[in-house]
Amino acid sequence: MRFYSTNSPEKTVSIQDALFTSLPADKGLYMPDHLPDLGPAFFNQIASGTLADIGYQLSKALFGNEISDADLQELTHRAFPFETPVVPLEAEKLAVLELFHGPSLAFKDVGARYMAGLMSYFSKQRDSEVHILVATSGDTGGAVAMGFHNVPGVRVSILYPKGRVSDLQEKQLTTLGGNIQAFEVEGSFDDCQALVKQAFLDSELTDQIALSSANSINIFRLIPQGFYYVSAYGQVASHQKPVVFCTPSGNFGNLSAGVLVQKMGLPVHHFIAATNLNHVVPDYLLSGDYTPKDSVATISNAMDVGAPSNFVRLKHLYGDSFDAVTSQVSGCYFDDEQTRAGMQAIYEAYGYVSCPHTAIGIMGMQQYLALNNADVCGIALATAHPSKFKPLVEKVLSVSVDVPERLAVLASREKRSIQIRPRYLDFKEALLQTI
Ligand SMILES: *Cc1c(COP(=O)(O)O)cnc(C)c1O
Repeated sequence: MRFYSTNSPEKTVSIQDALFTSLPADKGLYMPDHLPDLGPAFFNQIASGTLADIGYQLSKALFGNEISDADLQELTHRAFPFETPVVPLEAEKLAVLELFHGPSLAFKDVGARYMAGLMSYFSKQRDSEVHILVATSGDTGGAVAMGFHNVPGVRVSILYPKGRVSDLQEKQLTTLGGNIQAFEVEGSFDDCQALVKQAFLDSELTDQIALSSANSINIFRLIPQGFYYVSAYGQVASHQKPVVFCTPSGNFGNLSAGVLVQKMGLPVHHFIAATNLNHVVPDYLLSGDYTPKDSVATISNAMDVGAPSNFVRLKHLYGDSFDAVTSQVSGCYFDDEQTRAGMQAIYEAYGYVSCPHTAIGIMGMQQYLALNNADVCGIALATAHPSKFKPLVEKVLSVSVDVPERLAVLASREKRSIQIRPRYLDFKEALLQTI
């Protein structure tokens, strides 16, 4: 398998190059140079397996020439010790696909853990340690820290803005120890990001350590997110109905991952892209005009993206044809007031406690079912555990929401971080001292 940049399809790079560089120099996005057409029979056969087994079978179909069966088995089973269950809300008609049973309670675990496994595998081959640098405003950092924790051959340095992440988020970044080092920056998220950017441009530093990023546009975070669409398909296969997915979207990696497995033959009837007030993609799906905007803040803040980084990929997967995209994908969006009302209505109707992102997914699915009056099985992706947004969910629903044990235990652990001012030379010196 080789990868090309959407900006220069004629040139391809290896798995390793696409994995470790994340972003091609021409600022395009990496895509697989061919997607095997595995056909519905293949998916019907594998879809009843565990998430790890599905991941193994699909990885084998994609990379089986380059990574041994034994290594792929180990990688996928280590990455996915949890499942992504489909929980019915209305029998055979409406369900949620819970993607939050991993360590950081959000679907981003799936991509981060698979990518960590691949980096570990290739760094063993290269016989040198890889050093991941990542700036976080909270959420991504947790998935990356927990995903890369104790992964051999990989060190991680995470920069976060002091006092601007939630207590639980800070615990996820600062209590793991081992190969995970947190830098607490006396500044903003933008300051953190600027330090990381400067580090990548500093050849004196990159000559000494092999720097890499765990950026969400990395194609190896996206590919494994296809695995749970297959798992969901398998879990509802006995209904024998066309399957429609509704994906609450921000950067559109999650939705693109679904389209990627559809292109490989997974029978998906339709996709719905559900957003908050940041609705440039739903607008495009109506008008054909794509106009990126500044993001606006909402209560579903993990989807506050005004210029989605995976939009190019989504369009590209449909051959850049507006007609092709819109025949398979429709859009919808909800403002904060509708989201709060939706969370309440979902709780009243089904007794189901949802985070604001998940509520937007469920509402998008309900809207589709009402408009199309179709006999389909609608699956909304539940992207985060409600306890990740505990104060908001408790206020809107007047219920108490428990943080799952595996995360609650972090609260009592000791925080360890290196405090730095947002100055590059300070950061560089501190970073070099850690290795
Ligand atoms: C990241 C995130 C999203 C958006 O996913 P994209 O792949 O960026 O579209 C939605 N919900 C939650 C909870 C997230 O953390």
